[in-house]
Amino acid sequence: MRTPLMAGNWKMNKTASEAIQFFDSLVEEVGNPVDREVLICPPFTALYPLGRMIRKSNAPVRLGAQNLYPAEGGAYTGEISPAMLRDAGCTYVIVGHSERRQYFRESNAFINRKIRTALDNQLCPIICVGESLDQREAGQAKAVVTAQGRACLDGFSGQDVANLVIAYEPLWAIGTGRTATPADAQSMHAAIRALLAELHGRDVANAVRILYGGSVKPANVDTLMSQPDIDGALVGGASLKVDSFARIVKFQAGG
Ligand code: PEP
Repeated sequence: MRTPLMAGNWKMNKTASEAIQFFDSLVEEVGNPVDREVLICPPFTALYPLGRMIRKSNAPVRLGAQNLYPAEGGAYTGEISPAMLRDAGCTYVIVGHSERRQYFRESNAFINRKIRTALDNQLCPIICVGESLDQREAGQAKAVVTAQGRACLDGFSGQDVANLVIAYEPLWAIGTGRTATPADAQSMHAAIRALLAELHGRDVANAVRILYGGSVKPANVDTLMSQPDIDGALVGGASLKVDSFARIVKFQAGG
């Protein structure tokens, strides 16, 4: 059984003080869900105070970073190391988000190094893959996404892969209000799981959680989460408000 993972990616939003306020209200709203994991990925400046709050209150919320640098430390001005993220209380880290691929020219090879660094430091990487609108319209969605998956996972063992999370995020759905239909998303998730099975066998493929991301909101989360290969959501815009993120966290699958 894969425990659903409901993750909020705040991107470059919220000061540390705003994050603290949000966190208190979120915990109040979501209570203590036992059958799903809740994850917040705030900006770096909010990680340490939120990590302290989580430790103190034993809150059922996990903390993740939006990025890391693939080195243990050293002369990398402006970057952040895995040890810094662990010390702040992170257990997850997003790697290869399409905004980083697009604005910071991150390649699959560089993302592959980040995944290695994350796993070596007990941080669970959430690896983002997804096709552009042009690629989808040209019928290349599955080819593009499986090529990204192959390159990002090159050189990893089955044990490594069983311990990571993949997020399928079609670029045309991120921040646009346009969501993949549940059937389209399911079909892409099944293709990703088939790739994992080809690389490492069925058991590993069945252990990996594959999240959907791209304009997830309260109105569509239940049908998305009813698909057999959708194991959670990576939520941008709708994770910035307590009521919408709490409703997403409290999704009801099976409809
Ligand atoms: C994201 O940035 O990962 C994302 C899915 O954003 P949004 O939910 O706003 O489309």
